[in-house]
Amino acid sequence: MMKNFNKSFTFFMPTRVEFGTGRIANIGEEVADFGKKPMVVFDKIIRTLPFFGKVIKSLKSIGLTPIVFDQVVPNPRDNDVYDGVELYREEKCDFLVAVGGGSSIDTAKAIGAVVSNNMTISELESKGLNNSLPPLVAVPTTSGTGSEVTLYSVITDVKNHNKMILADRKLIPILSILDPEITLSLPPGPTAGTGMDALTHAIESYTCNISTPLTDGIALYAIELIAKYLKKAVSEGSNLEVRAGMMLGSLMAGIAFNNTDLGSVHSMGEVMGGIFDTPHGVSMAIFLPYVLDYNKDVAPKKHALIARAFGVDTYNLSDIEAATEGVKFIKELNRVINIPSLSSLNVTPDSFDMMADLCMKHVCTPINAKPINKETYKELYREAYKGK
Ligand code: NAD
Repeated sequence: MMKNFNKSFTFFMPTRVEFGTGRIANIGEEVADFGKKPMVVFDKIIRTLPFFGKVIKSLKSIGLTPIVFDQVVPNPRDNDVYDGVELYREEKCDFLVAVGGGSSIDTAKAIGAVVSNNMTISELESKGLNNSLPPLVAVPTTSGTGSEVTLYSVITDVKNHNKMILADRKLIPILSILDPEITLSLPPGPTAGTGMDALTHAIESYTCNISTPLTDGIALYAIELIAKYLKKAVSEGSNLEVRAGMMLGSLMAGIAFNNTDLGSVHSMGEVMGGIFDTPHGVSMAIFLPYVLDYNKDVAPKKHALIARAFGVDTYNLSDIEAATEGVKFIKELNRVINIPSLSSLNVTPDSFDMMADLCMKHVCTPINAKPINKETYKELYREAYKGK
């Protein structure tokens, strides 16, 4: 850690975060200054959940006219974003409220970016954003992506099976309302996957080659919180304290990686998700132990501290031995929370060569803790497929 203190860094956190049980009931008052006609962006499952009615009721209670757009899907698609843009313009909306997981928040970000920049998503990806978005409020309903505080929006290019990544500070929501109570309805499967996504954010932010002392502190505490609460969040989903711990861990992981970047777990998982539509968090969970095992010798101390944050007994172990115990902890965690194996997904080994090529072009590859090449990516895909 010490040598990190010589680094210069920027830390960016322009979002207002409102955190606490029951906060969602007052969303109307919180957003009153942003406009009159919000477009509320969510998916069809969210629509059926009791808290969604509370959001709409609170918005209406202060005289707003919410327009609803429920055409969000997991791994959100560019064509749905354009439909959202059309509705936003037709209805003359003046701000956005995203209620849902990363898919809903990212869709709302992309809608806002297209509305205010008059560019396609792929143009926004390559050229960046010129104009600010309409005010965007995020209400996360999963504890995973951190999208409520990040500068990213990940949208699938349906024609080319490619995940486009918009990255711009203008995409950071102006306000995020985090209410742990609304995650109580998240079933065990998505709780496990989204939780492992948050853990991966914290670990890759902490280990990547542009980490900073400030983000390290935040990321390490996020790792501790998620390691402490994830198993219980899966097995005792109705435990509010556990859900709050996960939501805080996920928020902190988002704040950390928003100020660093990520690594090869994201390269491997996002490449796979773009081609095979695998759930994002599950992809992260599958590759995390293999990438960490590959990375650990480049920064043994940090990898040992991760194991300690997991609560692993590292007494009398060298840093590398402790790091290896950390890798075992993740594999065991994946098993206990029922993360599916790679071989059980609809992914075929004959695509590993092509996927390794795409990983080499992925934005996170140059940031990974340890330099990596195509052969290693192929090997990591193979190892994860074998599941050893
Ligand atoms: P998601 O938004 O796709 O939601 C997963 C499923 O859970 C959906 O079916 C949803 O309806 C359901 N769900 C959500 N909240 C629920 C609740 N409280 N109760 C019951 N069901 C609920 O999942 P996610 O993992 O949050 O988001 C994944 C997306 O986020 C991916 O596209 C990924 O690429 C992206 N992502 C973005 C960032 C970023 O910084 N922008 C970071 C990581 C991942």
